[in-house]
Amino acid sequence: MRRSSNRNRDCRYYIRPGYLVQVLLITAFIILSGCGVDSRESNSDRSTVMSEGTHADNDNSTSIDITKIPQSSHSLNTPQKFVKSQQSDTIENSVLNDQLQITFLDVGQADSILISQGQRYMLIDAGNNADEELVVNYLKSKGIGKLDYVIGTHAHEDHIGGLDAVINDFEIGKVLMPKQISTTKTFEDVLVAIKNKGMKVTTPKVGDVYELGKAKWTILAPNKEKYENINNSSLVVRMTFGNNSFIFMGDAEELSEREILSNNLEIQSDLIKIGHHGSGSSTTALFLKKVSAKYAVISVGKDNSYGHPDSLILNRLKTFGVEVFRTDEIGTIVVTSDGDTIKFDKNASAIKEQAPPVESKAPNTHSSVVTSSPEKTEIKEITVYITKNEEKYHAAGCSYLRKSSIPIELFDAKNSGYTPCSRCNPPR
Ligand SMILES: [Zn+2]
Ligand SMILES: [Zn+2]
Repeated sequence: MRRSSNRNRDCRYYIRPGYLVQVLLITAFIILSGCGVDSRESNSDRSTVMSEGTHADNDNSTSIDITKIPQSSHSLNTPQKFVKSQQSDTIENSVLNDQLQITFLDVGQADSILISQGQRYMLIDAGNNADEELVVNYLKSKGIGKLDYVIGTHAHEDHIGGLDAVINDFEIGKVLMPKQISTTKTFEDVLVAIKNKGMKVTTPKVGDVYELGKAKWTILAPNKEKYENINNSSLVVRMTFGNNSFIFMGDAEELSEREILSNNLEIQSDLIKIGHHGSGSSTTALFLKKVSAKYAVISVGKDNSYGHPDSLILNRLKTFGVEVFRTDEIGTIVVTSDGDTIKFDKNASAIKEQAPPVESKAPNTHSSVVTSSPEKTEIKEITVYITKNEEKYHAAGCSYLRKSSIPIELFDAKNSGYTPCSRCNPPR
């Protein structure tokens, strides 16, 4: 730039003043458009911009107090990183542009999911506090400099523990979290990291649609601002890429599933990230039936103290013919979609050896499951039958069961909205 202004000065003696004005205007234009400080904003943020376009009212929904923080210059100091990452793996770009890749990181008894499409990246949860290095290093090993979207599904440590480190270490497009907050140190750490970056939290609404490259994703939950059980405040996301679809449940439990069902939004998905680590309080039969997934991923710690995943859920998945992939059995799971076919890399990592808490075998360690549905243990033994297409449940031998007969526990049938058949009069 300095050279061109020198030239202007040199030429001053030989040219008319009108021409000088013209040259200066052109120079100013070049500075503003070409060598502008933030060309990265204009080039790289198409997905962010488009999503805001899709949801002009989206930013109005931002309501957490920490969002009222004056912009700091911190986030402007990172473009270098991003520029580097965009240039680093150009050979693979043409292939990657046609693929959606979902990595379920083995963070033990926790969740962390990296999604990439083209050069766009999104992270759903970041494991426990102790996993922050693992998550950050994994992202760096992939050459990632910017995460277009970061989702903290809900305020529990096993989901947002590593989020502060991620926010500190990467350029971030948007941070999305539910409105329901927590008073834990872990939650505060995340808010401080966001505040220090001069960013705002986006609290999206059900039905909001975002884009990640060629993939689209929709918010399905939470449907309320506050829940007694913080798991139900989980942001639930359904993503589509070509003909493939994926649903990420966070720790949403049956109450949230029922609310999602009542909205009648599309939830059918090829793959479901099972809610709450396979706990018996999530993945109700009716919900699973409506999702009608071919594949399920359970993010769960080896020998965890909660008894996750619940054998009830594993049996239910089997009953519905869903193929299950578990991080405690496979380690990190990499799923690739070309828009038609979904492929699994089951050898992406070793399995994380995560020692369970010493007192893990105490009789009430199952409490997280039992407390939320105490009746279950009492009527667990009663089996009734449902069919593929009706909302009634039946006693064994009912004539309605000729075409299909899927065993289900009475508790689950009732909880999933099935009503007793009037012909066979099943147990109630
Ligand atoms: Zn939780
Ligand atoms: Zn959890």
